[in-house]
Amino acid sequence: MPAIDPGEYDISALGPELREIEDAEELREILAAERDGKDRDAVISLVESRIEKFEGDDGETDADALDLTEMSTAEVGNALTDIDDPAELESILEREESGENRDGVKRLVENRLDSVRGSEEGGEREEREPPEERHPELDHPTNDKRHVRALEGGVYRDMWVYCETQAGDLVDVSKEMLGKARELMDGYNEEYGGDERVVAVLIGDDVEKHTDDVIAYGADVVVSHEDARLSRFQHKPYTEIFCDMARAGATHEDGESRGGRDEAWRDYDKPRYVLFPATNNGRDLSALVQAELDSGLASDCSGLYIEDEVISNPVKTGAAGDKKNFERVLHMKRPDFSGFEYSTILCLDNPTREFHPQGASVIPGSFDVPEPDAERDGEVVEHDVPLDDEWFRVSVTDHDRLDEGVDLTGNDVVVAVGRGIGDAPTRGMELALELADQFEEADVGVSRGIVTGSYQFEGHVERYTTEDRQIGETGQVVAPDLYVAAGISGAVQHKVGMDESDTIVAVNTDPDARIRDFSDYFVEGDLFEVLPRLTEALKEGRTDFASVAAAGDAAATDGGRPAGTTPDSDARRTGGEAGE
Ligand code: FAD
Repeated sequence: MPAIDPGEYDISALGPELREIEDAEELREILAAERDGKDRDAVISLVESRIEKFEGDDGETDADALDLTEMSTAEVGNALTDIDDPAELESILEREESGENRDGVKRLVENRLDSVRGSEEGGEREEREPPEERHPELDHPTNDKRHVRALEGGVYRDMWVYCETQAGDLVDVSKEMLGKARELMDGYNEEYGGDERVVAVLIGDDVEKHTDDVIAYGADVVVSHEDARLSRFQHKPYTEIFCDMARAGATHEDGESRGGRDEAWRDYDKPRYVLFPATNNGRDLSALVQAELDSGLASDCSGLYIEDEVISNPVKTGAAGDKKNFERVLHMKRPDFSGFEYSTILCLDNPTREFHPQGASVIPGSFDVPEPDAERDGEVVEHDVPLDDEWFRVSVTDHDRLDEGVDLTGNDVVVAVGRGIGDAPTRGMELALELADQFEEADVGVSRGIVTGSYQFEGHVERYTTEDRQIGETGQVVAPDLYVAAGISGAVQHKVGMDESDTIVAVNTDPDARIRDFSDYFVEGDLFEVLPRLTEALKEGRTDFASVAAAGDAAATDGGRPAGTTPDSDARRTGGEAGE
């Protein structure tokens, strides 16, 4: 019996289970059970790569020594994973046919034969009838796409950064990405001895005014497309323009034109890497562009680095058991499983299909805005492509600007409140606003508990309690220098929207509130007492945390709390993960 029955798990649940198993023999049993059962390619690759990890050098199997009559189907399956020689596998098949003649065993040997023959032929996959031919009765919209095709031996260079503007201004995350791109490409050029560049992309109406700025923040090249019709983000024209920029001038070394026209400033097929902001528009654009360029996207990333990576997944190497060193891989870290884990996403070529650009969207606030360097020089390219009227079928006839400050991402400080304000909701909001007022770049956010609660707010605070200020999985993701969470329990859906903040201060009456686990400072106390004290401390210029802690204590001892709250306030530094 295998340690676990893989058939009972889907692949996402199986991964963590397998992580517990380090015995190659046990893993082989699981592999055999999968082959006998659901026979899913992805599961087989997963288990095989784990076997490889824990298998010693003595993993070789002597095919002739196998006594098939004494072996179960599962045991034969285990043994086969070590045999790569088609002649040996044919001999096993013959012995089985003339002996036990079990269908299961024969199928396993035949599958293994197909697999090793396939890899001997250079990983060529079986020719499959294209879906358009198999299902002529269906629409096949991707059939007409120019770039959904394999690119082999492509030439890729540079890191591109889509620099978003809003209401005419360059948004902070654009600057943050430029700084990170500069750092990454400086390291890249040092490591790999190249001269690859940071390319800033500006699209919109009146965007060329940002050219000097984006160079100062780290770009080597600025490619811009200005047109009055682009004053508002629209995904069709923006996608077409970005993709045209990304393909233009792609004349490959073999002379084959891949981009349609010459561009003096670049001579490669597609960008090597591309970064987009994980804003509303950036999320939209990033997905469309990456699909159109036939690549992938790691969305909502908060960490990036470039490194080589050795991979043994046969989908990527072309053959089971092979290892391949992928060079210059952009490692894209993103919060996963509702923020409990971080995944590192890689976008790697397949043996017969290349995936570029390697692309990520970046959570605002994940990286610092760099110091601008007005002395930097850069190349400026005005992109020119005719804009098709068809791309502008959607026109904005009227619009309403949301209240200023609703985009919470650019603030240094966010004061967020939750259901803890329930005893006096309007007063609770006022206290949050008063605290936020003490900082230059600060605003107020709320948990979903406020948005969906049936609190009666007075008019002057009501607009601060709506969904557009919600922080979390289904709201905004913020990462300010300081995040104050008052009366918020720390549900995981809230956590994923704020746990990248530099310093998290939680105010809560419940010492066991979950938010404590990921706060830097936990003030155990009643927000109706603690928030005014914090505001007071800031007004008096006491900005160190000792003052803040003292404010918490004072709130406890000075009294004046609404009825029904704990008399026991305490401020302490927790062992929260965000660090100092
Ligand atoms: P509660 O969980 O009720 O916590 C209130 C806290 O206040 C408690 O810890 C309590 O001890 C404390 N308290 C009470 N009185 C005081 C006082 N006087 N002073 C100080 N502390 C006090 N939630 C989000 O926030 N954002 C999201 O994007 C989001 N998306 C979701 C998506 C889905 C699909 C689902 C199912 C849920 C989502 N939620 C989201 C809801 C989430 O699960 C929680 O229900 C919500 O975050 C709870 O809000 P809260 O912390 O304000 O309320």
